[in-house]
Amino acid sequence: MLRIDDLVVRYGSAVAVDGISFEVGAGEMVALVGPNGAGKSTLINAISGLVAPHSGTVACEGRIAQVPEGRQMFADMSVEDNLLLGGWSIRNRDLGEVYDLLPDLAGMRKRKAGRLSGGQQQMVAVGRALMARPDLLAIDELSLGLAPLVVAELAEHLRFLNRERGTAVLLVEQEVTLAFDVCPRALVLEAGRIIAAGPSVELAQSETVRKAYFGDL
Ligand code: ATP
Repeated sequence: MLRIDDLVVRYGSAVAVDGISFEVGAGEMVALVGPNGAGKSTLINAISGLVAPHSGTVACEGRIAQVPEGRQMFADMSVEDNLLLGGWSIRNRDLGEVYDLLPDLAGMRKRKAGRLSGGQQQMVAVGRALMARPDLLAIDELSLGLAPLVVAELAEHLRFLNRERGTAVLLVEQEVTLAFDVCPRALVLEAGRIIAAGPSVELAQSETVRKAYFGDL
């Protein structure tokens, strides 16, 4: 459903994404891992249209919604108003569906987003993206600044969404173990290029990945 072909993104003369090609099938969950500055955020932003590519193509057969890095809540607005911002062009009944999918949000709908914990805010950010009824959810750093137990709960929600709704997920994640656990397939980025790709269970065993992420010799 998503096809990226020879994508190049530049900031001035600096090349952040250097000729990347891959596909995500309908309902697939794919992880994008790599060190700081590898180009993960740039790639996901180019996919969702937040940055313009220098060359190459992004073709998508459905709607993409992004959960941005750092969650980007409107702190003084209620949870519900934050959710409604995600669906401004769509019908209000989407709100009920999001509350069905993420029932915890219904209980906090009147609270100010800025008063929630990081994990709760991340759930609002996921809910807000779901308001656009995406076929693909592009998530930039699900685990950023969150405790492992909270992350595990969010990961469970993603699996549920994927199962129940068939929403495809592209997960940018620093936490490689989490990324491989949630997504059956993964791409490893370094300096704007894909240096390894395949089933997460195989990548977790590969020498390149073990050296870079698990401190093995
Ligand atoms: P991180 O995990 O730190 O966010 P990343 O893998 O997401 O890293 P990017 O944020 O996409 O990497 O950055 C890729 C490269 O592009 C880096 O060298 C970064 O310094 C550069 N870069 C990112 N955003 C900009 C920008 N707005 N202007 C100029 N250079 C940028």
